[in-house]
Amino acid sequence: MIEPIKIVHLYPKEMNIYGDTGNRIVIEKRLSWRGIPFKSYLVGVGQNVPEDADFVIGGGGQDAAQGGIEKDLLNKASTLKKLADSGVVMLMICGMYQLFGKKFVTNEGKSIKGLGILDVETIAGEGRIIGNIVSTVPEMGEIVGYENHSGRTHLGDDAQPFARVISGIGNEEAGELEGARYKNVFGSYMHGPILSKNPHFADGLIKLALERRGIEISLKKLDDSITEKAHQLAKLRPR
Ligand code: GLN
Repeated sequence: MIEPIKIVHLYPKEMNIYGDTGNRIVIEKRLSWRGIPFKSYLVGVGQNVPEDADFVIGGGGQDAAQGGIEKDLLNKASTLKKLADSGVVMLMICGMYQLFGKKFVTNEGKSIKGLGILDVETIAGEGRIIGNIVSTVPEMGEIVGYENHSGRTHLGDDAQPFARVISGIGNEEAGELEGARYKNVFGSYMHGPILSKNPHFADGLIKLALERRGIEISLKKLDDSITEKAHQLAKLRPR
């Protein structure tokens, strides 16, 4: 009997722009369609992150919402860092990606401190970067998404990019890089939600989480034909 996979969703109320909550739902559905038990924890301001999490996910948010959770996120820093170091699978999109980096400086010049789990820094630039994005990720293949951010994210020396941009912008105008990765922590600008448009990536994350728990099962193939259409359509739509 498999112990339930623990999915932690950080700030589902504050940080849920462009439907990033869908990422949690996709993980839940793909586990349940395969009969793998799970338990989800919605962790907001003032609530603790379970120390035995298998997945941690977080979504995008407005600058104001990011400022609103700054203090609380820093209170959760030591637990989240321990989990990241121990290989827990994390997926942080846009606003939460920025806050898993060192800092985000808004258009108004307000600096919001981040966790520094990812060696990246973000500064708001001229104009928002908006539109479909197509990228490629080693071992995961092609990933499509939708970006909408003012932040330009610069990778530090210790940062590894998540993806290479084929079309769209990603982290910043220079460099053709998208997101960042540390161990099994993935930060990305790609909304969509990313996991619903890229089921192969969702399964890649599920495999990483199961492997880390020492669970050996081959994931049953699911019918992703509709999702595949959404993926292909996003590629055809110019910015
Ligand atoms: N407020 C941040 C920015 O504009 C994040 C936006 C988002 O999460 N979509 O860069």
